[in-house]
Amino acid sequence: MDFSIVADFFQKIESASSRLEMTDFYAELLNKTDLTDIKEVIYLSQGKIAPDFNGIELGLGENLVIEAIRKTTGYSKEKIMQDFLKKGDLGEVIYFFSANKIQKTLFKEVLSVQKVFSNLKRIGLSSGHGSQETKLKLLSELFNSANASEAKFIARIVLGKTRLGLGDSSIMDALAIIYSFEFPILFKKELNLIEENLKEKKEEKRKIETDLRIKQNLKELIESKYNIHPDLGFICFKLKEKGLKGLNEIEIETGIPIRPTLAERLSNAEEIIEKLGKCIVEGKYDGLRLQCHKNKDEVIIFSRKQENMTAMFPELVKGIQEQIKAEKVIFEGEALAFNEKEKKFYPFQITMQRKRKYGVKEKSEEVPLTLFCFDLMYLNGKNLMDLTLTERRKSLNSIIGKGKRIKLTDSILASDAKTLEKFFNESVSKGLEGIIAKDLNAKYIAGARKFAWIKLKKSYNDELNDSMDLVIIGFFKGKGKRTQFGVGALLCAVFDSIEHSFKSVAKIGTGLSEEQLKELNELLSVISLKEKPLNVVSEIIPDVWVEPKYVIEVIADEITRSPIHAAAKSENNGLALRFPRMIQFRQDKNPEDATTENELISLFERNK
Ligand code: ATP
Repeated sequence: MDFSIVADFFQKIESASSRLEMTDFYAELLNKTDLTDIKEVIYLSQGKIAPDFNGIELGLGENLVIEAIRKTTGYSKEKIMQDFLKKGDLGEVIYFFSANKIQKTLFKEVLSVQKVFSNLKRIGLSSGHGSQETKLKLLSELFNSANASEAKFIARIVLGKTRLGLGDSSIMDALAIIYSFEFPILFKKELNLIEENLKEKKEEKRKIETDLRIKQNLKELIESKYNIHPDLGFICFKLKEKGLKGLNEIEIETGIPIRPTLAERLSNAEEIIEKLGKCIVEGKYDGLRLQCHKNKDEVIIFSRKQENMTAMFPELVKGIQEQIKAEKVIFEGEALAFNEKEKKFYPFQITMQRKRKYGVKEKSEEVPLTLFCFDLMYLNGKNLMDLTLTERRKSLNSIIGKGKRIKLTDSILASDAKTLEKFFNESVSKGLEGIIAKDLNAKYIAGARKFAWIKLKKSYNDELNDSMDLVIIGFFKGKGKRTQFGVGALLCAVFDSIEHSFKSVAKIGTGLSEEQLKELNELLSVISLKEKPLNVVSEIIPDVWVEPKYVIEVIADEITRSPIHAAAKSENNGLALRFPRMIQFRQDKNPEDATTENELISLFERNK
């Protein structure tokens, strides 16, 4: 397929006036795409060349892209910089200069999806001495042959931001639209159930709602596969190849991360026992959540965000090879610095020193980590996610051999609040963050925050609320002394996990050090947007909108009703944070992992 077809659709998606329209355009593009190009089209629309867990990143620097624009259009660097400063988007810059080239192109070829993808992949893979020249050559080759809108999207993709507003959730919505025609054939029972539930409705309404529910059902089905195999290129390939039946071929595999299960929160031991009854209670270790995959001697370690972190933890790799008594296994735990002799857990900041690219060996000897394991999802070819926690934990216990690096989390069984509270206090006094109580009969629920796990942290007992993780959706330029930093205050949002949108909840100007303001300015100016993106809901208009990308941890005095914020809005009031302060960046979280609108509402109810 010609890349120009893809670029034309990207153009339409970019100018769509609603999420619905955007998803329809995207579904049309995927429908038009053949099996041979489908993976590539999916990755390009995500601004990637591979799923995240492969760790191949494009992320070219702006200077290199500017140089490629200069080389291929004939305009001077000064002219390009001037236009960039005005527009803030190199995609728009090359769009204009490409359409008005002052330099003749000598050799031009029609760009296919495969050609664009192959050059981008080579850019992503080239490293080391001479790689900058290679990247420049490969990019210039594409710019040379591209028309204006092709060049615009190629520039954006290599910079790692398509600005299309197409999140993974919208891509799954589009897939549900495309394959909804197969639903009545393959899911007769489910269709009957939907029709039964809607039979009282008038015909017109019934039709619309049936259609909506079919798509919801399909999206959930696709999402259940995405949760165990988070690679939409692969999922879409299977769908194209075999229709909905292709989904049956997507299974857990070592080397492919599973999306993590997440914990709900309640405010005290009584509430937890009331919710779960007899439950298992473990310490809440304050370190890094790691998902470990072992296939014979090969070990891969993924972060909470599914990044491959194997190279950072050589002592854990060795520990897993020596201690885990199973051929093929996927299990999870929290890794942190721990002094075995004194039974002392070190604070999060110490463990965080291990998140590094250089000096790994020295640091691993200075601050070795211990992995406290708490779940087992896959064992020797068997998916264990549907077993109860009791069964999974029993198997997990049986495969951990003796040794220092890999241990099972300490746990107790609690049937009453007193026992739970006692364990909580013991855990806190040992330096842990609190406890996590777990439903003994729950399955492993990938990618969701359900009441299978409930956390109780020591901060919940303080006067203030627990911290929240908010997404930055815009910023206000600094006034007075802060003008020099570019950023003065942040507009932040919670995540609406139903609508997949980000709703404003706080304006944060306090707690930001000069260092952080500078860092924020660097990070945010790269993802600035001319207009509010379609997945953001806010009546407050910041000086600059940004792509919802970065998550920060925030504390506040309280949650109050507010006429100006969009979170949990009903009638005239939404919810807002009073005196919010930034604590730190949460680089281990994606925007979709931020505090949700529902969590905000329950925190508000709890603290009323
Ligand atoms: P927080 O910000 O409170 O650390 P979170 O938002 O990162 O939490 P949650 O799902 O709310 O994640 O809480 C569960 C997290 O607690 C896990 O992601 C894991 O990193 C950590 N954890 C520590 N000890 C345990 C344990 N015993 N079982 C499960 N998770 C644990």
